[in-house]
Amino acid sequence: MNNIAVIGSGTMGNGIAHVFAQYGHQVALIDISQGALDKALATIQKNMDRQVGKGLINETQKDESLSQIKTFTQIKDGVQDADLVVEAATENLSLKLDIFKTLDEYCPKEAILASNTSSISITRIGAVTNRPEQVIGMHFMNPVPVMKLVEVIRGYATSDAITQKVMDLSRKLDKSPVEVNDYPGFVANRILMPMINEAIITLYEGVAGVQEIDTVMKLGMAHPMGPLQLADFIGLDVCLSILRVLHEGFGNPKYAPCPLLVNMVEAGYKGAKSGEGFYKYTAGSKDLVVSERFKK
Ligand code: NAD
Repeated sequence: MNNIAVIGSGTMGNGIAHVFAQYGHQVALIDISQGALDKALATIQKNMDRQVGKGLINETQKDESLSQIKTFTQIKDGVQDADLVVEAATENLSLKLDIFKTLDEYCPKEAILASNTSSISITRIGAVTNRPEQVIGMHFMNPVPVMKLVEVIRGYATSDAITQKVMDLSRKLDKSPVEVNDYPGFVANRILMPMINEAIITLYEGVAGVQEIDTVMKLGMAHPMGPLQLADFIGLDVCLSILRVLHEGFGNPKYAPCPLLVNMVEAGYKGAKSGEGFYKYTAGSKDLVVSERFKK
């Protein structure tokens, strides 16, 4: 599997392109926005410079890897020789279904079509193609060049052979793949999001403050980040939409998103990316400052 196409060059897409190029693959990085592609290439270069600084790769490897990434603004121009496509476009069901119909039309017949979705059903995505046995989830974690896990998600129709190929390929990228079945939230978010939601409910009910909740989980459970800080990092809008997928998918009230989370997202407080969530973020500062709204 030499030729890889990555659809979407945002947070995840640039990291996925980085890793495939670093491990010797030709990468077609595709986004509808030329600005996003330019930004992605600059980010990949910066992250590879950091790897050079840490002695993980040398300058020659960096230059070779960067030269293996080509950018495109049209899917049909970038996927004609693809052995594997990893879709990492915006998390939106109808957008992803459209992308997979296009991929099915323009990719070689034997190409594997993977999605990096956090919550959308792989089975549903596969069903809009004529090759559902070759459609699979390849759920990388952020930041992709650093995080070891790839959650490999088998849709209802995904074949054993394709699953095995994707597991093997992930290992060649020096990742640790884990095979899971396609049910709402897969494994990672099915366990993580209820924990984050419970932390928000604990705050909402006044049991403890932001810092106290995060400190309990950091020092008590050895989590590197507290759940409220992690929610800010992931994006509160992303957390809310995953909780809604769990709530709807299982029809179980235990997944109902906390009303505080709903209010924050509706008011535009989406965490680090919007400048404020449970914490307040100031450009250039790494200090963790609790939002004024949650100060006692
Ligand atoms: P993002 O918003 O940073 O990037 C999405 C990119 O997709 C944008 O650059 C956008 O221009 C592009 N795009 C939109 N429509 C497109 C189209 N039709 N064709 C090509 N490109 C298109 O999003 P992200 O955080 O990188 O998330 C991407 C995917 O990865 C989502 O499915 C998300 O659920 C999943 N994911 C995200 C994280 C995370 O921590 N951010 C972790 C795991 C999985």
